[in-house]
Amino acid sequence: MYVLVVNAGSSSLKYQLMDTAAEKVLAKGVCERIGIDGHIAHKNEVGDKFERDIPMPNHSVAIQIVVDTLTDAEIGCIKDMSEIEAVGHRAAHGGNYFSDNVYIEGDVMDRFELCREIAPLHTGPHIMGIQGCTAVMPNVPQVIVFDTVFHKTMPDYAYMYAIPYEMYEKYSIRRYGFHGTSHCYVANEAAKVLGKPIEETKIITCHIGNGSSITAVKGGKCIDTSMGFTPLAGLEMGTRCGDIDPAVVTYIMNKEGYTADEMSNFLNKKCGLLGVSGISSDMREIEAGVQEGNEKAALACNILAYGIKKYIGSYTAAMNGVDAIVFTAGIGENNAAMRERVCKDMEFYGIDFDKEANDAGATEISKPGSKTKVYVIPTNEELMIARETEKIVSARK
Ligand code: ADP
Repeated sequence: MYVLVVNAGSSSLKYQLMDTAAEKVLAKGVCERIGIDGHIAHKNEVGDKFERDIPMPNHSVAIQIVVDTLTDAEIGCIKDMSEIEAVGHRAAHGGNYFSDNVYIEGDVMDRFELCREIAPLHTGPHIMGIQGCTAVMPNVPQVIVFDTVFHKTMPDYAYMYAIPYEMYEKYSIRRYGFHGTSHCYVANEAAKVLGKPIEETKIITCHIGNGSSITAVKGGKCIDTSMGFTPLAGLEMGTRCGDIDPAVVTYIMNKEGYTADEMSNFLNKKCGLLGVSGISSDMREIEAGVQEGNEKAALACNILAYGIKKYIGSYTAAMNGVDAIVFTAGIGENNAAMRERVCKDMEFYGIDFDKEANDAGATEISKPGSKTKVYVIPTNEELMIARETEKIVSARK
């Protein structure tokens, strides 16, 4: 099936056209500066690039430009729009309204509207992306794949916070978790490398990128994850603080005179690697700082590495063991030094770390006899979204 995977942000829209039978990317690209001016960067199957500035006043126009590019006689990969058999939309937050990925029909969009309150920054743009596809391809089936769905199997004691129960009932405040598509993908890939049915595995997946989260996957199901009600919780991230004593929030608000919105902006945009190092939110620049002897850059790195180590420890306890630890996403896949900081001195957990394999960029970075395996597995959220979309759409036929 040819599935167009769409990830719509407020002013950008990433897309991939995938052939699910061959699990092949036919073309991919990104529309940027939607609502400002407009720019498309497109790559075909063999990696030829095409870029141009073109007005994109809204997401519908952006989708039309994507379809025009995909069907272009010279740079396109399909002859006609009718070859697109389904669209799969990535959505950040399904709240308590969606415990499964959904075919868009009936009251689905009304329920998705309700997610605006819990995730306003993400849901609005996702809705615009869906409306854009509906306008341009009215007869093509569409599916929403949520970052939160993989985490629906957490037990209540893992997803509930120790706040009055009525807050959960009134406002649906609980841990949801994010990056679910990525955690699900790499856990399944790790089971393949382990050579075991996923039902018999205990895997800790570390998605470490600009946003980072860790998930405990027992028997293929999520039992706990580090992000929470929002993607602000858990590890230190590019600009997000991760877990801190909640009293720090009110203390800083009082001291600095911040409103709730200002404080939210502070915690999401001014903290993390950027806030600690004072250099950048980008790990490559932080590592360059470490090389130059910058102590705050080193501290920023150490906070992240120590945070990952602690989650591995607690999730190993939660699962009563671990077969494999997986690193993925921008930092997890590319930063050998960070993986080494995390994995050294972990013999207690059965990790016999292979520094040479790690430095060489191997998939398996624990030594052959290591009781706990450590893998580096590139994530592929788009492939997961395409597979899920095909499954849901095929079930309708
Ligand atoms: P997002 O959460 O936005 O999808 P990514 O998964 O792309 O983010 O991760 C971005 C992070 O990965 C940045 O901090 C970037 O510096 C880091 N990164 C990417 N490539 C490398 C590399 N070769 N070495 C170290 N860090 C890298």
